[in-house]
Amino acid sequence: MAESLDIANEMEKIPELQHRNFRNDEFWKQVPAWSNVSREEFADSKWQLKNSIRKLDQMNKVLGKRVSKEFMADIEAGLKLTPMNIRITPYIFALIDWDNPADDPLRKQFLPLGSQFIADHPFYREDSLSEDVDSPVETLTHRYADKVLFLPTTICPVYCLYCTRSRIIGGSTDTVEKDTYGVNPKKWDAVFEYLMNHPKVEDVVISGGDAYMLTPAQIRTIGENLLRIPHIRRIRLATKGIAIFPQKILTDDAWVNAVLDIVKLGRSYGKQVVIHTHFSSPLEITKWSQMAMDRLFQEGVYVRNQAVMQNGVNNKVNQMVLLTRQLSFINIQPYYVYVHDMVPGCEHFRTTLREAVELEKAVRGTTAGFNTPTFVCDLPGGGGKRHVASYEYYDEENGISLWQAPYVKPGEVFMYYDPIHKLSPEAQKRWQSAKERENMVIEAKRKAGF
Ligand SMILES: *Cc1c(COP(=O)(O)O)cnc(C)c1O
Ligand code: SF4
Repeated sequence: MAESLDIANEMEKIPELQHRNFRNDEFWKQVPAWSNVSREEFADSKWQLKNSIRKLDQMNKVLGKRVSKEFMADIEAGLKLTPMNIRITPYIFALIDWDNPADDPLRKQFLPLGSQFIADHPFYREDSLSEDVDSPVETLTHRYADKVLFLPTTICPVYCLYCTRSRIIGGSTDTVEKDTYGVNPKKWDAVFEYLMNHPKVEDVVISGGDAYMLTPAQIRTIGENLLRIPHIRRIRLATKGIAIFPQKILTDDAWVNAVLDIVKLGRSYGKQVVIHTHFSSPLEITKWSQMAMDRLFQEGVYVRNQAVMQNGVNNKVNQMVLLTRQLSFINIQPYYVYVHDMVPGCEHFRTTLREAVELEKAVRGTTAGFNTPTFVCDLPGGGGKRHVASYEYYDEENGISLWQAPYVKPGEVFMYYDPIHKLSPEAQKRWQSAKERENMVIEAKRKAGF
């Protein structure tokens, strides 16, 4: 049997009112180089940007003797395996528990440890969701009838090791050559024109990359051009920023004002402009997050959250319940929790579908229904997002699930595969053989009636 959660035992560990406590200590002072940094300096978005960690020697300098040589060597080994660059804000870097960085959920998300990598699943794909296949013009994915995904930038204020778009986001690494285009406004006119000519589209997700990296002028250009299109009714600005760099909301007025102006412009047309953010762990939430959200909330900006389920980061009931309740408390609506996509360099992050189904069961009922995230699997091959329990067939022993997407791709069958290291020893052995793999898939399809 595949690994699953011990729900009864886990439910007992749910902290009752812990979600009302927000960390407000001078946590950055545990990092040797920042022991004299004042609260005012730490609050400054320019200071955060200037001191972001992008290189190993910078990390060495900032931490000094705080971590062992072995640990730094393990990070160096990780950098040879990950498809993502390092980029991490001082805010998140300082929230890492540097007494035990190997097990820290924040370290796991942003700094690779060579010793924690596992071989990719044989059926992984660089563009697992087929975003490039469903792309009618560069930087735009049009899969669903009335909504599109627009990627105006390929850079972010932090790089997540589990990024689903590791094929294009950030710079090249030892394992991936990327043609990173950064922010390229020249490509946007074709997108606006395409949308103008497709009256069924009502909804635009502006993602990337991260909208935090767009300048105020670029935010205005995108917002004004999209809102001008009569049939566009809803815009979402996607940024992980609130989660990893709340100081920008508090001190970068030019950027915040550009967003506020677009929100107001939308409202004047009777259209929605909202922010979609991306907290994955309750450890990312502090008093700073609450202050940033107070500002946005008071200005009337609506914020939703999308989290990615990750092994050792948020796949325990108490972690996910705390995340859900704490986001709700600061007026962020938990919207989605994604099962991890089958992209390279992420096998150690993935969880089984069973774990996702169990976690959704455990979370439902712990807070308001409208603040309860929908757990989804974005189907490899472009079937779109489906509720985790809506598979057509699930062979848990071999970690194979079969899905359909009746509206998005009628008649097609999609497959998701659990990470092999979480399966039984017998199943793991079967996955070693190419012939057996093929047989397991054929057998699963036959049992499902396809
Ligand atoms: C996720 C996604 C959307 C938005 O889908 P929602 O379920 O409405 O959040 C739109 N287009 C693509 C290609 C997507 O992956
Ligand atoms: S913020 Fe989003 S796009 Fe950027 S690295 Fe993280 S997951 Fe990828």
